[in-house]
Amino acid sequence: MAVNIKRPNGTQDVVPSEVYKWHTVEAVVRETAEQFGFKEIRIPTFEETGLFVRSVGDTTDVVQKEMYTVSSSGDKTYTLRPEGTAGTIRAVIENGVLNDGLPQKVFYTLSCFRHEKAQKGRLREFHQFGCELLGAPSPAADADVIALAHSVFDRLGIGNLTLNINSIGCPECRARYREALKAYFEPHRAELCSTCQERLDKNPLRLLDCKSEEDQAIAKDAPVILDYLCEDCSAHFEGLKKNLTTMGIDYVINPRIVRGLDYYTRTVFEFISNDIGSQGTVCGGGRYDGLIESLGGKPTPALGFGMGLERLLLTMESQGCDFIEQKTCDVYLASMGEAAAQKAVEIASRMREEGFFVEYDLVGRGLKAQMKYADKIDAKYVIVLGDSELESGSAKLKNMTTGEQTDISLEKDLLDDFGAQYYQHMLTTDDDFRKFVEAFSENNEE
Ligand code: ATP
Ligand code: MG
Repeated sequence: MAVNIKRPNGTQDVVPSEVYKWHTVEAVVRETAEQFGFKEIRIPTFEETGLFVRSVGDTTDVVQKEMYTVSSSGDKTYTLRPEGTAGTIRAVIENGVLNDGLPQKVFYTLSCFRHEKAQKGRLREFHQFGCELLGAPSPAADADVIALAHSVFDRLGIGNLTLNINSIGCPECRARYREALKAYFEPHRAELCSTCQERLDKNPLRLLDCKSEEDQAIAKDAPVILDYLCEDCSAHFEGLKKNLTTMGIDYVINPRIVRGLDYYTRTVFEFISNDIGSQGTVCGGGRYDGLIESLGGKPTPALGFGMGLERLLLTMESQGCDFIEQKTCDVYLASMGEAAAQKAVEIASRMREEGFFVEYDLVGRGLKAQMKYADKIDAKYVIVLGDSELESGSAKLKNMTTGEQTDISLEKDLLDDFGAQYYQHMLTTDDDFRKFVEAFSENNEE
């Protein structure tokens, strides 16, 4: 009996006709990250559970409610990564990457897993582009990381985002702030959600990050961290603002932003989209100067961000941004009869060797149906092969955009003949190609 199994709640399929959107985003993030000096790192999909408890923090939603944890036959438990920073830091320490000179800059594009209530912009398996800049304490590094995210949005043509920045200080300023928060929330203890009642004792800063509306209303008038920063942290925050201004990057100061993870120090930031509803944070990040040491590395200042690619795509779609077009077939070889079909196989392999995108009939259709199929797959050219073409060694090349037909040799000259036609085709239909050729010939004239 057939079974009908559906995909798990909170996951997504990307079908072939939609994958170009992902390719666009993936190409742009890679190119931009590399241009900023970041190199890709690849890490496992799961890690020992203790890594996330330790680095994400045991008072966070992620660790308290959202981890996918599995036990293997031994006594260790493993967790599917809920984010990329913890595994990345574990990997750079374990592989001695930090001994190769500082700063080290790494980026990744990976899937993350969180057991959340699935809704628009909130999935159980989602994808992040993230980067980590390791070994640079100065606010110029914070601005550089923010500039990378900003540049990705810019190149993808995304507008209407607000960059929110804040500083949550160092352990010293935070200790004083924590006391102030405790004093503020204590009288409201009974009105808080049960998780936050516990957080009030363990980590009151987390109260500001609670998603419950009642708790958010109480938190509205809480003291703000910026009033508690020590001199060094204040100067660092000023330095960040100055660098952002120099780079022409607009921001707002939002003292409510504390970020979801425990390991942050000083700078925290979010890019929030105004177009995709309540799950509007497309990118969040900040500085985490204590994390590397707490995971067994040498004390090393560091910072980074995670950008949610599903939310990024939602924003692009809602703003009608352009995507890189999918490649379509250069030549479809239509054939009539057994001998011509064989010739199509031979020509296709010759043309593919030269790098052309070539297809031919695989299902035994008649000529008319083949032409229809070529049209459907958006083939740029069709070559029609039949007995008389095989005999004469020459066939018709049909330009599917203009309907124009020319003769093309099927013998030695085939690739030269087709190459010339194709070059003309690209010149008239592909702006980037035309500009490239123009720039190239101008350079050669000089
Ligand atoms: P939120 O406040 O929306 O729950 P978060 O603080 O948990 O976000 P981070 O851990 O900072 O998120 O992750 C960085 C980015 O990853 C987010 O800004 C968002 O774009 C994306 N992201 C986080 N959780 C999800 C999810 N469940 N589904 C889709 N994207 C997500
Ligand atoms: Mg979350």
